[in-house]
Amino acid sequence: MFCWLSRLFRDLSRSTGRTTQPIWGSLSRSLILSSQRSIPELSSFVARTNTCGELRSSHLGQEVTLCGWIQYRRQNIFLVLRDFHGLVQVVIPQDESAASVKKILCEAPVESVVQVSGTVISRPPGQENPKMPTGEIEIKVKTAKLLNSCKKLPFEIKDFVKKTETLRLQYRYLDLRGAQMQYNLRLRSQMVMKMREYLCNLHGFVDIETPTLFKRTPGGAKEFVVPSREPGKFYSLPQSPQQFKQLLMVGGLDRYFQVARCYRDEGSRPDRQPEFTQIDIEMSFVDQTGIQSLIEGLLQYSWPSDKDPVMVPFPSMTFAEALANYGTDKPDTRFGMKIVDISDMFRNTEIGYLQDALSKPQGTIKAICIPEGAEVLPVFLRANRSWNSPVAKFIMEEQGLGLIRLLEIQEEDVVLVTAGENKKACSLLGKLRLECADLLEARGVVLRDPALFSFLWVVDFPLFLPKEENPQELESAHHPFTAPHPSDIHLLYTEPQKVRSQHYDLVLNGSEVGGGSIRIHNAELQRYVLAAVLKEDVKLLSHLLQALDYGAPPHGGIALGLDRLMCLVTGAPSIRDVIAFPKSFRGHDLMSNAPDSITPEELKPYHIQVSWPTDSAKKRAR
Ligand code: ASP
Repeated sequence: MFCWLSRLFRDLSRSTGRTTQPIWGSLSRSLILSSQRSIPELSSFVARTNTCGELRSSHLGQEVTLCGWIQYRRQNIFLVLRDFHGLVQVVIPQDESAASVKKILCEAPVESVVQVSGTVISRPPGQENPKMPTGEIEIKVKTAKLLNSCKKLPFEIKDFVKKTETLRLQYRYLDLRGAQMQYNLRLRSQMVMKMREYLCNLHGFVDIETPTLFKRTPGGAKEFVVPSREPGKFYSLPQSPQQFKQLLMVGGLDRYFQVARCYRDEGSRPDRQPEFTQIDIEMSFVDQTGIQSLIEGLLQYSWPSDKDPVMVPFPSMTFAEALANYGTDKPDTRFGMKIVDISDMFRNTEIGYLQDALSKPQGTIKAICIPEGAEVLPVFLRANRSWNSPVAKFIMEEQGLGLIRLLEIQEEDVVLVTAGENKKACSLLGKLRLECADLLEARGVVLRDPALFSFLWVVDFPLFLPKEENPQELESAHHPFTAPHPSDIHLLYTEPQKVRSQHYDLVLNGSEVGGGSIRIHNAELQRYVLAAVLKEDVKLLSHLLQALDYGAPPHGGIALGLDRLMCLVTGAPSIRDVIAFPKSFRGHDLMSNAPDSITPEELKPYHIQVSWPTDSAKKRAR
């Protein structure tokens, strides 16, 4: 929490050009500065004249009415009132004639909601609070109303008060009152607004809602099913509006977008939610560069101005390069430590396991050099001229010198070497690279600038990948509707595993924040991919295949993962911190206890019965 707070202070002070300020005041100002061209009217239609955070010396003498929560009270003389916009000091009247006002303001517990009316006056000389944006003034109260009293809270509404995430999710409505959650959700709303503006007003996109009660889509993620009243018939919640957005192209709605809710029943993963939001986009008559330029423009336009600006165009890297140099398809390119192939240097090595690895198909030896790694890591192979490693004595002199040259090893660096099948070796070193970066940063070595936003396109993915559980069979690397690379189409019928696709992913600081593709718009080709390569049941997609036969335009699109994007923009530790009511790690709503059981009576119309797990199965599931 403390580190969030200081990060927020830093972000906010950058935007206002000031040093640390009380969080509430800076928060609202930064948000207004960041994306509103004209200052919005914050007190229209409601029972207040002003917000707590907006009053300044320029308001002196004005009669105001404020509504807010009691943040704290000092000696029954002052009360600090809070709303989303900031804090303001209210002077509790002490004279007899205002006894009823005093009683209300002194007796209402902290976090009660009150309405006060009075005059804006300046604070007595010497009592100004320069740390508070409203610190030059206070409110001399004439009337006060207790709008609702607050019982003892499960936790204090202060960001620096530590609370477990379980407690925060259980009382989410209280957690949302905190400055950090207010900042995250308001910034999210502003970015989405700017995205709508860019897409609809500047580029003529049409915002279209698509159904969430749908049927199963073959391939891809597991879907949630929803029972229907017809025996044995179920809806599926779509993992994305993929089919609908393509059908909209067939329907001539040639620039579609939607802030779309998507559902995937994939179990608990730290950066996933069973329901999440995508900025979903599809266009007709477009190619890969067209989509990429659109997204670069969209992000630049909607980027909060209190963050480091986004530079366009984004750099691009092929999938093969990403895997070879970083061991992953979502490389964090903010720092070096790239993977280097050192197989050639060890062709005549005496080290048994290296020999062994090289003799196998796709066998390689790879290494990464971790600068200053000796400070923090157990040494495997160290280059302070005396090799400090269990295998040092087997490394011949010219091999050692070659390593130093190839990996540009300095003293106190650490070299990690792995040998094995190419993809596995790269992926292992890719993981170690990130682990080492975290370790080094934990010890104070600066590798990645936390204020930097490093976008990257990853392109030229293979169209298919071997299935993890059965490598003889292929599955789509993106989804079954992705078009093959035009120069590889002939391979589809002979060596499908070699076909590259027109699929592109957008990566930000090592996280995938978007992905899309140019689609197959030819029914025959689509049928071939589904039936012959992926062995899917084409009947499930007969509507789409038919539509492609009725004059489907060439089209392509992309979806940005809004939650993940906002998580990175705000620097939040988890995507749950940019979602108002997220599910827990296990997919539960801890506030309402969903999913919940329903009675057999309620189940009847759906013609389904629960088969309860046995006690031992329950234990295993835990
Ligand atoms: N529907 C795709 C996804 O959710 C995105 C796309 O291809 O446009 O990953």
